[in-house]
Amino acid sequence: MRPLAGAAMLIVAITLTLAGLLAWSYHGTIAREQTNLRNLAEAFAAQTHYATLALDLALARATERAPENGTIAAMPGGAIEDIPARVRRLGPDASLPPAPDGAPRIGINLPARAGDPATITLTRSLPDGSSAVIETDAAYFQRIFDSADLGRGGSVTLHQRNGTMLVRSPTLPNVIGHSFIHTPLFQTHLPRAPVGAFEATSPIDGVRRLYGYSAVAGYPLVIVTGRDLSDTLAVWRGWLWVAIVAWALLSATIALLAWRTSRETVRLARRFRYLKAILDSLATPLWVLDEARRIVLFNRAFLQFTGRGEDAVTGRFEADVLDPAGADARADLYARSTADGVRALEAEIRDGTGATRTVIQLAARLTSEGDAAQIVNSFTDITERKQVELRLAYLADHDPLTGLPNLNRLRRVLADALTDAAVCGGQVVLLLIALERQQEVADLLGHEAGDDAVREVAARLAALAPAPLCIARVKANEFGLVLPAGPAHRPADAVALELYALLSEPVRVGGREFHLAPVIGIALYPQDAGSANELMRLADIAKHRARSEAGEPVHFHSESTHIQLNERLTIEEQLRHALERNELVPHYQPKVDIATGRVTGFEVLLRWNSPVLGAVSPARFIPIAEQTGLIVPIGTWVLRTACAQASRWAREHGIATRIAVNLSIRQFYQKDLLQVIAGALADADLTPDALELEITESIAMSRVDVVERLLGGIRDLGVELSIDDFGTGYSSLAYLKRFPVQRLKIDRAFVRDLGRDADSAAIVRSVVALGHGLQMRIVAEGVETESQLEMLRSLGCDEFQGYLFARPMEAGVVPALLRRASNA
Ligand code: C2E
Ligand code: CA
Ligand code: CA
Repeated sequence: MRPLAGAAMLIVAITLTLAGLLAWSYHGTIAREQTNLRNLAEAFAAQTHYATLALDLALARATERAPENGTIAAMPGGAIEDIPARVRRLGPDASLPPAPDGAPRIGINLPARAGDPATITLTRSLPDGSSAVIETDAAYFQRIFDSADLGRGGSVTLHQRNGTMLVRSPTLPNVIGHSFIHTPLFQTHLPRAPVGAFEATSPIDGVRRLYGYSAVAGYPLVIVTGRDLSDTLAVWRGWLWVAIVAWALLSATIALLAWRTSRETVRLARRFRYLKAILDSLATPLWVLDEARRIVLFNRAFLQFTGRGEDAVTGRFEADVLDPAGADARADLYARSTADGVRALEAEIRDGTGATRTVIQLAARLTSEGDAAQIVNSFTDITERKQVELRLAYLADHDPLTGLPNLNRLRRVLADALTDAAVCGGQVVLLLIALERQQEVADLLGHEAGDDAVREVAARLAALAPAPLCIARVKANEFGLVLPAGPAHRPADAVALELYALLSEPVRVGGREFHLAPVIGIALYPQDAGSANELMRLADIAKHRARSEAGEPVHFHSESTHIQLNERLTIEEQLRHALERNELVPHYQPKVDIATGRVTGFEVLLRWNSPVLGAVSPARFIPIAEQTGLIVPIGTWVLRTACAQASRWAREHGIATRIAVNLSIRQFYQKDLLQVIAGALADADLTPDALELEITESIAMSRVDVVERLLGGIRDLGVELSIDDFGTGYSSLAYLKRFPVQRLKIDRAFVRDLGRDADSAAIVRSVVALGHGLQMRIVAEGVETESQLEMLRSLGCDEFQGYLFARPMEAGVVPALLRRASNA
């Protein structure tokens, strides 16, 4: 509709302008013509004045020369003689009024017969009361006036001041002598000004005319020039028509254009509404961005998604409208989007209500918009689908009763764990636990109670720490566990025994206690099998054996591990009493300075002579002691015994030596470690520098902040520190530098391989360089041969320890050894 209104306004403006111009030129034309007419009237007035003056003079002269009645035929001399005039004397005539201001009276004599000429008379009174008249043909004036061309309908008239018409050009005999005193000229204009112009309708022929007039100076005469108005305006009227035609053409053109434009606009608007209606009918939020990422188009679903009104979206930056959290991902999507294909992005985005939706955003670049590439976007809301998928996935993987993973998931976790272990060289344990008497609960108290019992067991399993990789309910009364295994983890048998103990505790259901009688079957990767399925099968077999062999409710698949389990149980049982029964004996192994061959100190290594098990290696019982916590009292005992021993040697044999005690990780983190150490030193009356503590590299690197504090505390006591088994763990040099450590003990494995492979020598060399760089002494463990010692010497090692010099020995043998050594 807008173009139409604009066009109408334009047409009005053009019309007004044109009308203004026409009016202006109309009035200009009229004014110009009136000026012409006035000028012409003035010119004729001047001519008339002179002609009349000439007649007047002639009259005066004639009366002086020939005072008697007579007629003069012509005027003597100059142009005046050209005026044909006759002078007459008249007798006194009282009827003639005297001329007011000395001017002669002017009149007209109309012919008696039509066709005869009229004459103009000039009459003056003479002193004797008579008067003289000069008479001339009106045609004389007529000829003067005829010289003006005033076009068709134009006229020049001579009037007496009293309105009587004397002459008219062109001639019109029947109005000559008529009075025009009632016309506006005589009523209005002439009284106001002697010269002027005006417009009026002719009383003679009814034609509208423009008039100019001028009074003739000195005589009661008036010249009136007139011109037909329509004749005057002929040219203007021509322009009027041109203007009207031009106006009509222009207006028509404008109107047409406006109409077409408006029709086009209406059509476009209709098309736009149509497209918008289509877009709005889609449930998918849609929006279009310009290059500056402003929203230029959107549909209703988009408004609903963003929870905003149209005004809060139109022209806004997308970043101000959509959840800013995903802005980076979207920017990336737009950067990737091209004209030839749609790019997609799955994202979580908060909608207008603040709820998080999962959407797939599709983006395509519009190139049809010229340089400014726009991007068309849509969201496909897949939140519900995702939730359903998650729910289905959850159901597919979980046991609805306990919420634990099901067999399905257990298999997958197991397979993944096996893959990881295969890659990293780790181990995996699978335990299958059947509750043999769970059915009794249901039989006795109904299904609900049976379910309660299962849930109770699930809760106990879920509370296990550290959490297994997977705890699953695999059958109605059966659970499965997947755990990592290997040196860094709790041994499978320990876990199995703990689980057994845990599930052997009675369950209270319906006010009664039930023993669920767990049986556990265990299979190990990679020892027993290489695949998840095989492991499952073997654990199942082991479980059946556990069920069938009375008194052995925990069963490993492999015979050897099963035997180990038994042995372990025995060791654990025996170890509990070893301290009080005095079965533990510390042995001492000397450390020797490679350069001087002198004994620099001893490492305390524990021996256990069990009346039941015989001599048990610390490599076997120390880990069990650690797992059961027995290591804490045992460790304290070793520390105190060693300090007392060193003190005794000093007192009784004058042996000033340093004694090294191994600290296990459990001891290291015991709360009162520093007091225990200080107490041992004080009670033995031993100087702190006579004591050294060995911690393994893996302990040192376990919880660096705590370790750093503890090591600092130990150093503050004046006790020395060494890092044991160096090279077997993963040391961070940065931390190593921070620890107040005096010695690095190169692990036995590298010493054993010295001379066998080049790597070991290289490792030893770099450990030496590293240790020396940190002002540490390097001690080699497990040196058995001279050639090893030679190599260590050449590699720059400071001390060594090993069977080559001495095996760990009982305390009583030490003084003799030292004497021998110093003698040698
Ligand atoms: P470790 O601290 O690395 O002790 C060195 C081990 O190497 C000892 O084994 C020692 O007898 C052995 N050994 C020494 N020289 C040689 C040699 O030339 N060749 C070979 N093949 N072996 C040699 P042991 O006594 O069986 O002790 C084993 C581990 O038990 C020790 O390793 C230590 O970690 C732990 N252990 C021993 N006694 C104690 C103790 O009182 N407290 C703690 N926490 N751990 C102890
Ligand atoms: Ca050691
Ligand atoms: Ca060692």
